[in-house]
Amino acid sequence: MADEKFQVIVIGAGLAGSAAAYQLAKAGREVLLVDRGKGPGAKNMTGGRIYTYALKKLLGDEWQEAPLEREVTREMMMMMTPQTSVAIDSTFSSVNQQSYTVLRSKLDAWLAAKAEDAGAMMIPASTVDTFLMRDGKVCGVKIGDEELEADLVISAEGVNSLVAERSGIIKPLELKNIALGIKHIVQLPEAVINERFNTVSDVGTAMLCVGECTKGISGGAFLYTNKNSISLGMVVDSLSWKNAKLPVADIAEALKHHPSISRYIEGGEVIEYSAHLIPEGGISALPQLFADGVMIAGDAAGLVVNSGFTVRGMDYAILSGIAAAETANEAIDAGDYSRNMLKGYETRLQQSVLKDMHTFKNAHDYMAHTRQVFTTYPMLAADLMRNIYGVDGTPAKRVLGVARETVADKISYFDVFKDMVKGARSL
Ligand SMILES: Cc1cc2nc3c(=O)[nH]c(=O)nc-3n(C[C@H](O)[C@H](O)[C@H](O)COP(=O)(O)OP(=O)(O)OC[C@H]3O[C@@H](n4cnc5c(N)ncnc54)[C@H](O)[C@@H]3O)c2cc1C
Repeated sequence: MADEKFQVIVIGAGLAGSAAAYQLAKAGREVLLVDRGKGPGAKNMTGGRIYTYALKKLLGDEWQEAPLEREVTREMMMMMTPQTSVAIDSTFSSVNQQSYTVLRSKLDAWLAAKAEDAGAMMIPASTVDTFLMRDGKVCGVKIGDEELEADLVISAEGVNSLVAERSGIIKPLELKNIALGIKHIVQLPEAVINERFNTVSDVGTAMLCVGECTKGISGGAFLYTNKNSISLGMVVDSLSWKNAKLPVADIAEALKHHPSISRYIEGGEVIEYSAHLIPEGGISALPQLFADGVMIAGDAAGLVVNSGFTVRGMDYAILSGIAAAETANEAIDAGDYSRNMLKGYETRLQQSVLKDMHTFKNAHDYMAHTRQVFTTYPMLAADLMRNIYGVDGTPAKRVLGVARETVADKISYFDVFKDMVKGARSL
C-alpha cells in the first residue's frame, strides 16, 4: 500500500535531477526530489568546468547567481614526458562567460535549494532501492519499507544507476564504456593562484594534459583553477588501465610531483580526494532512455562526451533534466504516462545532446585504441622542441630537417599520417 502520491518523483539531486525538479516545480507540479547524500552534491564529483549555456537555459538571468568559481579565459594543452612538457597556451582577452570552473558541493546544493524554493519537496539522506512497478509500469519508488507513488519517475541517479538496472530497464555498463576519474582539490590562497597563473581574481585557467600524466594510459589529466583551490586529476580509460596493471592511485600521486604540475600546487593542502566513474561509451552505448512511467537523465543515461579536448557531462545533465521535465509536463497535461507519450523526451534530446554525441561518436574508440597519442607523440613533441632550440655548434638544419630527424626510427610517417587522419575524423 502506497503512503503518498506525487506527480513526479526525481531520483538524485545532482545537476540532472535538480534541473528537472526545478523546472517541474516552477510549472506548479507536485515533485519530490530524493537524494542518498546528507546534502545535495555532498559526494558528487566532476573535473571542474561547466559550460554555462545550459544553466542560462534553465534559470534565465538568475544563472549569474550560481556559485561558480572562475571564468575560464586561459586554455592550456600540454604533452608530457617524465621530465619535459610541451604546451599550447592560449589566453582569450574577451570575456564571454561561456565556461567557469566549478565545485560541485557548492553548485549542487545551490541548485537543489532553487528547486526547493520553487516548490519541490526534498528528502536528503534517503536511498531509493527500486522502482515501484505495477503491470510492468513504473509508478513510484521504494525507499526501505516505504512506498512512494508517482505518475512519473525521473531517474537521475548518476553513473551507478542501480535502481534503473535492478528494474531491467537499463543494462549494467560494460567495462569498455567506462572511464575512471581521480581528483585532488588542493587549497591555496587566492593571491598565490593569481600569481602562479599570472592572472587576476575571478579569471581562471583550464589545463588538459596527455602523456606521462597517465603513464601513457589512454586518457588525460586536468587542472582547473578555482577561487582559492586547484582541481587536479585525471581520467583513464578502464580497459587500457586494466591492461596496464598500474595502481591508479600511484599515477594520480605521481601527477602531483611532475615538474610541470608541482610548481602550481606547491605548498597547497589537499582538502579533498575522490574517485568516480564516467560513462564514456558514447552514442553507441546509449541505454533505453525511457519506459512506461520513467525517464532516465544525465550520467544514468550515459549522456557524456569526451571529445579529447574537453569532458562534457554537466551541461548535458542539465539539458536532459530540462527535456525530461518538459516531457513530464506534456504527459501530465495529457494524463498519459506511457512510453509512447514519453518518446518526446528522446526527440528533445536529439535536438541537443544526442547531436553532439553523434558528432563525437568515434572519439572514445580513437582515444582508447590510438596508444601512441599518449606515449610516442608526447615524446616526439618534446624531442622536436629540444632539437629546434638546441644549438651545439654542428651545422644548423631547417625545421623540416629537424622534424624528419626527430621522427626517424620512432614511428613511420605512414602511421603518423593515419593517426592524424583518424584523429581529424574523430575529435
Ligand atoms: C573526473 C571527472 C571529470 C569530469 N569533468 C567534467 C568537466 O570538466 N565538465 C563537465 O561538464 N563534466 C565533467 N564530468 C562529467 C560530469 O561530472 C557528469 O556528467 C555530471 O556530474 C552528471 O550529473 P548527474 O546529475 O547526471 O549525476 P551525478 O552528479 O552523479 O548525480 C547523481 C545523484 O544521484 C544521487 N543518487 C544516486 N543513487 C541514488 C539512489 N539510489 N537514491 C537516491 N539518490 C541517489 C547521488 O547522491 C547524486 O546526488 C567529469 C566527471 C568526472 C568523474
